[in-house]
Amino acid sequence: MTQTASTASPQSWAAPYQRIATEEAFAPPEMLDIYRKILAKKDVDPGFKGLMGFYMSSPSERAQHIMRCLTDLDQLRLQHMNECGIDKQVIALTAPGVQVMDKATAVSFSQVANDQLAEAVRRHPTRFVGMIAVAPQDPAAAAKEIERGVSKLGMNAVIINSHTQGEYLSDPKFWDIFAAAEAHDVPIYLHPNSMPANMIQSFQECGLDGAIYGFGVETGMHAMRIITAGVFDRFPRLQLIIGHMGEALPFWAYRLDYMHQATVRSQRYESIKPIKKKPSDYLRENFTITNSGVAWEPAIKFSQAVLGMDRVMYAMDYPYQYQADEVRAMDSMDMSVEDKTKFFQTNAERVFKIR
Ligand code: MN
Repeated sequence: MTQTASTASPQSWAAPYQRIATEEAFAPPEMLDIYRKILAKKDVDPGFKGLMGFYMSSPSERAQHIMRCLTDLDQLRLQHMNECGIDKQVIALTAPGVQVMDKATAVSFSQVANDQLAEAVRRHPTRFVGMIAVAPQDPAAAAKEIERGVSKLGMNAVIINSHTQGEYLSDPKFWDIFAAAEAHDVPIYLHPNSMPANMIQSFQECGLDGAIYGFGVETGMHAMRIITAGVFDRFPRLQLIIGHMGEALPFWAYRLDYMHQATVRSQRYESIKPIKKKPSDYLRENFTITNSGVAWEPAIKFSQAVLGMDRVMYAMDYPYQYQADEVRAMDSMDMSVEDKTKFFQTNAERVFKIR
């Protein structure tokens, strides 16, 4: 950090745009209690154990700081936002949210978490925007919670932390969730989760399963599964958001398009059927990406060139990557004020319907 609490002054962050950070996390203390019970079980999922098991028990300064920030929806969070010039946070239940819980607990706790977040948004209506947590374990209940989140709680998006106990949203049994998101006109933020048990071993043995690489591999694959399963042919107005520079998919777009049509023509896989458009068309029309965790001008400009200026948004990934100097770096990009305003502010206002 180049700025600390003692030296930061809000004025020093003045800009001709608001900074809206769009992939920011929170964790209710009650959820951590549920996690402790899950972590105490014998057959605990290796990815969950490696991720939340670590953060919740590590004595390291970084882990303890992150847990303090995650559980705060008031002064500490606002202080950090002020210290690095974040006007608004779009907040979601941190990974894996309720998706690691049994079905009944997941459904009931998603409601508890959404009520808490909605309450925080009511306390700080100009600073916080909320995403709706859902339990994909029960797609019908998840669809109902999307409706409640939009109509009763005034929330602006849905958060799903990638796979649910190894199952992917490309399976039509989950498509009530897509139908509800499309019907209520809210985007779904497909956020990483730790890798499922059948995928994690070769990543974990070299320490590459987490945010360093594995998250992007797994979440990028999830997004591709949703595209190739024909979800956007069935739900053409559905909008997804993916972080971490689109989990690298913009960089892959040419090869995805070429090899998708080659795979369809070869009839090699039952699961790769013809879809109406090229994979990159869906990326341009049904996805918005954020730069969470990637404060890197070349990657941002490349993605803007591939997806369009309206499809790339700013995100900090608070508190996991709370870095004031990264905000400075984004402010200093060699980019017109108009395009920076889209990146930091107006794309998020449109996608999340922030008023
Ligand atoms: Mn994140």
